[in-house]
Amino acid sequence: MEMLNNKFITIKTDIEEAPHESMFEIKTQTLPPLDEHDVLVKCLYVSIDPYQINRMKSRSSSQNSVAAASKITPGMTINCLGLGRVVASNHPDYQKNDIVHGTINWAEYTIVKTQDMLKKLDTIEFPLSYYVGIFGFSGLTAYGGFFKICKPKKEDKVFVSAAAGSVGNLVGQYAKLFGCYVVGCAGTKQKVNFLKEKLGFDEAFNYKEETDLNSTLQRYFPDGIDIYFDNVGGEMLEAVVANMNAFGRIAACGVLSGYTNSKKHIALSMVDVVYKRIMIHGFLATDFTSNDFNDFMSVTKDYVRAGKLSVPEDISFGIETIPSAFVGLFRGDNVGKKIVQIAKE
Ligand code: NAP
Repeated sequence: MEMLNNKFITIKTDIEEAPHESMFEIKTQTLPPLDEHDVLVKCLYVSIDPYQINRMKSRSSSQNSVAAASKITPGMTINCLGLGRVVASNHPDYQKNDIVHGTINWAEYTIVKTQDMLKKLDTIEFPLSYYVGIFGFSGLTAYGGFFKICKPKKEDKVFVSAAAGSVGNLVGQYAKLFGCYVVGCAGTKQKVNFLKEKLGFDEAFNYKEETDLNSTLQRYFPDGIDIYFDNVGGEMLEAVVANMNAFGRIAACGVLSGYTNSKKHIALSMVDVVYKRIMIHGFLATDFTSNDFNDFMSVTKDYVRAGKLSVPEDISFGIETIPSAFVGLFRGDNVGKKIVQIAKE
């Protein structure tokens, strides 16, 4: 294989608070020759996810949890979930032109060591971008968090935060298909309309326009909340606990309100948690990769085939758009799954 120049995105320094485009740069490296069992992948689609901000900090307890959450060193490549085409392979299981998805980099090319997760796509039934969104960790998080952690019952009253985002929109749609009453919150009027008019949420509100979240939730849940899918933490979580029914379940999925504001502290009413017997359960998508993955894929693909699940995606084109795509997550720019397409299929 001839020497290949590879552009990749990196951080200039550790990022402790809100990210800005100026904190990122595009670098070029010359790729080394492939070792035995290496696979060279041309990156087509890469996932843009909020959790990466915790990897960019000088330290965060999250960095010791699972390999995918490990610290990112300034100047080095940044790995993520993505999809690409094999351009050269020293591994017998992968051939040139195979479409693969798994761990690749925010880069034009990635040399994948075979110990990394890399799955071959044998049949191409859906748009390729779905494999970094709805059929990737966003979908698995929504499915596992809702069905396995929240253990819904029909007609449960469900609240979802960051509901127009990648995970949130799917949680709301799964919950509606299951027969729950679903309310979502999001940060703009357009997103609120999208949730109600396009995704079939029963209600939605703009949390940025609300001055008293406790009374807002009382308004939307006069009979209390049974399930809260928490993407944001913070004051919203405090208000939810106050409005939760006995034996309510909270899936603690993410803490968007805290990722870029380390000074943020909240005071949950532990009296409510105890006397209402509320279950608050943190989880990671990787908890569902073995036992629940096949169910997730077959149920979700059936829903998509039947046109019952919408797949909102927000795709920008070109490796140079990765910094603004990522920073935009924390400004609320995206509707649905944020993806960058690095190259044409
Ligand atoms: P996303 O919702 O598609 O994108 C982020 C959205 O969050 C933004 O569009 C914005 O929408 C909202 N947001 C940003 N800053 C906020 C703040 N300070 N307060 C409230 N909302 C804010 O992202 P995602 O990939 O679906 O992730 C959603 C959550 O799930 C994140 O917390 C993420 O870390 C978590 N997650 C967890 C796992 C897991 O394994 N546990 C896996 C995937 C994702 P608005 O306009 O509505 O503000």
